[in-house]
Order: sequence, then structure tokens, then C-alpha cells
Amino acid sequence: TKKTVSVLGLGRMGGALARALVDKGYEVTVWNRSEDKPTPPNTTRVSTPEEAFKSDVVITCLSTYEAQQPLLTNDIKTLVNLTSGTPEQARNTAQWAESNGVEYVDGVIMAVPQQIGTPQARILFSGNENHYVLDAFGEPVHVGEDAGLAALYDLALLGLMWAAFGGYLQAVALMGSAGIAPERFTPMAVSWLNEMTTLLPEMGEETQSRQYETEVSALDINVAGLRMLTEAGREQGLDTTLPQALHDLFERAQRNGHGAHSIASVIEEIRK
Ligand code: NDP
Repeated sequence: TKKTVSVLGLGRMGGALARALVDKGYEVTVWNRSEDKPTPPNTTRVSTPEEAFKSDVVITCLSTYEAQQPLLTNDIKTLVNLTSGTPEQARNTAQWAESNGVEYVDGVIMAVPQQIGTPQARILFSGNENHYVLDAFGEPVHVGEDAGLAALYDLALLGLMWAAFGGYLQAVALMGSAGIAPERFTPMAVSWLNEMTTLLPEMGEETQSRQYETEVSALDINVAGLRMLTEAGREQGLDTTLPQALHDLFERAQRNGHGAHSIASVIEEIRK
């Protein structure tokens, strides 16, 4: 017989998780703080978290740990935590679970709600190697024994995404200030970003060997470029928070002796 599953939180993601579980044939109980969220079809709605804890597996998907912490009790048999947080929050919850006799797995969802239940949804999990019902949502990938690791991967990947999106929006604003529409600029942006990603493996190696000699592009020239980008933004009447922050970080590496080195040397400033 299939496990019974509860989903706490019927937000954009929690609702999608509940629907995917129903699609996979699980008996699903749902709970949400406020009543305005619709009940996913073929689920049983309960009015207190305690009623939801009767299921074999309890999945939490609330906005933050601060929101979910007060709800957790040792009545839970198995907790699958899909609320986003920091590695330390995940480890603390794993510790709480262990000392309360609650089976625990920590997961993060690298997908948007519309992808849940399709092979495109990647679910990273850490700590406990049992993925329980995570395969109902997508492809579960175990990333390590430390319960905090899934959260660490999540934030590292999201940080990469936010930096790229921020850079794209800055670029679109810069082009827009001269009347160039995004649809004209975006194809160039896409192929440029694709090209740039091919440089990451070598950059990664340099951060490990800490050998930053370069025949390609020295930090000096990139700091000068970031100064021009910041000035151009100002000339065009834009906010320059992003290029300024990058400029300041890169310039610090330059001042600390990396001017003739590759961009990878900036990691020496970040690691401090
Ligand atoms: P939503 O804002 O759509 O939903 C938030 C949920 O949290 C609601 O069910 C809300 O309940 C509940 N909640 C907030 N505060 C409290 C509280 N104090 N007590 C009880 N319940 C509370 O967010 P999402 O569904 O998009 O996100 C949920 C989690 O999933 C987050 O951790 C997010 O990082 C993660 N995630 C989301 C992705 C996405 O694309 N949406 C992608 C990957 C991860 P109420 O209805 O009562 O307000």
C-alpha cells in the first residue's frame, strides 16, 4: 500500500506538490494557515497541522523557516522539508528531528510550480539518503550526508541566477535608454551568456589551483571596463548599484595585487 502524505502550505509551490502527489496515486491531506487558498482536487483538507501529522509523510512548503518552526511537533513520523532556508536552518531542523524521533529529509526544489511532476523538475536532497516521496515531483538527486547541503546548493545556484538576471536587466535598461527594445537585444544576450558559460570550468580550476596567470584578459582591463559601465549607466540616467558593486569588488582585488591576474583572482576577496 502507498504511503499517506500531508502537505503543509498551499502556496504556489505547495499546491503544485499536492496535485502531483494526487496524480501519482497518493492519499493526500492538506493544511494551509488561511482558508482563501483553494483545496487541490481529491485531497482532504484539515484545519489544524496536528490532524495532518497523522499521515506517514509530512511535507512542509511554507515561505520561510520562521513560519514553519512553530508548527512542528514530535507527532510527525517523517518530515520532508521543502521550505527554503539557509544550511544552518536545515541542520538545526535535522537536529531537532533526530532528538524528537522524527525521520527527516531536507530537500530543495530547483523548478517552478508548473514543472512539478515533470522530469524537468530537479529536487536536491541531503542528509537522509531515503528520498521518501520526492520522486513524485521530479528527479531526486542526493547531494550529500550533511543535511545543510541541499540548502547550500540551492542558494549557490539561485545566487548565480539572480546575478545573471540582474545583469540582464541592467543591460536591458542600458539599451532601452537609447531606445533599443529588448526583443532586439535579447538574442544577442542569450548567445553571449551561452558563450560565457563555456569559460566556467577553467575559472573553477583557477580558483582551486590559485594560479591566476592569464594570456586572455587581465583584471586591470576589467576594472576599467566596470568603471565605464558604471559611468555609462549614470550618463544614461540609470541606477548603478549593480555595476558599482562589481566594480568595487574587482577593484579591491586589483589593489591587493591581482591587477595582472585573471578575473578568477577576485575569489581571493570573496573568500575572506
Ligand atoms: P507562496 O507565497 O505562494 O506561499 C507561501 C505559503 O506559506 C502559503 O501557504 C502561506 O500561507 C504560508 N505561510 C507564510 N507564512 C506563514 C506562517 N507564519 N504560518 C503558516 N503558514 C505561513 O510561496 P511559494 O509556494 O512560492 O513558496 C513556498 C516555498 O517553496 C518557499 O520556501 C520557496 O522558496 C520554495 N520554492 C518556491 C518556488 C517557486 O517557484 N514558487 C521554487 C522553488 C522553491 P497563507 O496562505 O496562510 O499565507
